[in-house]
Amino acid sequence: MPRMSPRRSAITARWTLLPSATGGVRAAEDVTVLVEGNLVREVVAGRVVPEGCAHLDLPDALLLPGFVNLHNHAINGPVFRGIVDDVGAAGTVSADNIVYSLLLPLGDLAGTVLAPEQLAAVYRLAVLELLRSGTTSVLDMPRAQHRWLLDAAVELGLRVFAAPYVFSTPARGVGADGRPAYETGDEDASLAAVLELAEAYDQGRDGSVRVGFGPHATDTCSPALLRRIAALVEERDSFASIHVAQSRHEVEVVRERHGCRPVEYLDRAGLLGPRLVLAHGVYLEDAELDLVREAGATVAHCPLTFARSGVTVAFDRFHRAGVRTGIGTDAYSFDHFGELRAAGFVSKLTSGDGGRADAATLLTAATATGGAALDPRLGRIAPGCLADLVAVDLSGPHVQPVRDPLRNLVWNARPSDVDVVLVDGRLVVERGRCVAVDEDHVVAEAADAVAVLWRAAEAAGILPPIERTAG
Ligand SMILES: [Zn+2]
Repeated sequence: MPRMSPRRSAITARWTLLPSATGGVRAAEDVTVLVEGNLVREVVAGRVVPEGCAHLDLPDALLLPGFVNLHNHAINGPVFRGIVDDVGAAGTVSADNIVYSLLLPLGDLAGTVLAPEQLAAVYRLAVLELLRSGTTSVLDMPRAQHRWLLDAAVELGLRVFAAPYVFSTPARGVGADGRPAYETGDEDASLAAVLELAEAYDQGRDGSVRVGFGPHATDTCSPALLRRIAALVEERDSFASIHVAQSRHEVEVVRERHGCRPVEYLDRAGLLGPRLVLAHGVYLEDAELDLVREAGATVAHCPLTFARSGVTVAFDRFHRAGVRTGIGTDAYSFDHFGELRAAGFVSKLTSGDGGRADAATLLTAATATGGAALDPRLGRIAPGCLADLVAVDLSGPHVQPVRDPLRNLVWNARPSDVDVVLVDGRLVVERGRCVAVDEDHVVAEAADAVAVLWRAAEAAGILPPIERTAG
């Protein structure tokens, strides 16, 4: 494969995912995408290679805009692997308190027991997995201190929209009644830490690293804090993301404190608008979906993270309500293919209609819809759009034969079929391997770091000890 010029290149794939006239996507055969700098310059018919252009010829691939992962916590992928699966209602951790009883405490512990280089290793593994799964942009909600996410994204070449956590009343653990135990936090300090991170890393609209705001959830942020963030988003041409109605406890607490539903609460604070991404929305009522749609806000739909706790949330419900709905993995894994399939199957199961959430609809959500929430130049292959492109090889035995490439991509392909990834016009994955790092080394370093954390979590009583057999 020829080295791609960072300035001008031509990519000819067997199929190319282009915007359709009806606002969705279609697979065009035998077109060439011309890339100049970090932008798609033109899409032309046939195999066209202008003079001085590097040519990438992909006769077995479908070229698509990279996936926009609209809700994620990069550190959680490696740290919670094998920890949050098979957790039943009989234990102390349940779907309604898992965020407070396990996710936040173990995430906090990572920040205290791991050395900076160990945290950097964990983030590097997360970014590696994201890129290898065809993700070119991630909206991630890290802790503000975790600059390693941004460092890893720059090092490996992922476009990142960080929405670092801000809290007014963080919940750490759960009380005897099974409800979250809220503490009074210092929201000024929490917000100041995010502004400091933005000062150091935010590259503005033309950069590949953006730092916005991540008010944690409607039950952990005060109205005053949400109003301040709404003003900052506007002032700085930025964005925000917040967890909304992800548990019944959260909805109850908002009702008790403010006498309204979560989306009404966001609306009153002035935060509900096109620059807001609402993660989950599992327990939203229909009237709230209407409010979200009218405000032009986006829902980040992450079905697997709830499915593993036995909770049903259907893409189809948001989509049919006309809500702009993108897809996130929420660090269940970073496998966007798996998440799309789950979004499809849950929609088909809950509606009893196999035609719901079809491949083209899901691909649109995963690319153009998610992209539109963050930057109108993201998620489409069209002149003037950002050259964030992924080539997925469709020649494998689990994918062939191909009649409708969109269906084969969504229902049959896997992250290991991702062959080439370009972000901002730069080649970051080639022949399925990340070009910037030694992948085996990245995996081994992260596994060592997480082993240290798990042992500390057992000692602190956050994780039950497991039996390790000798020999
Ligand atoms: Zn989340």
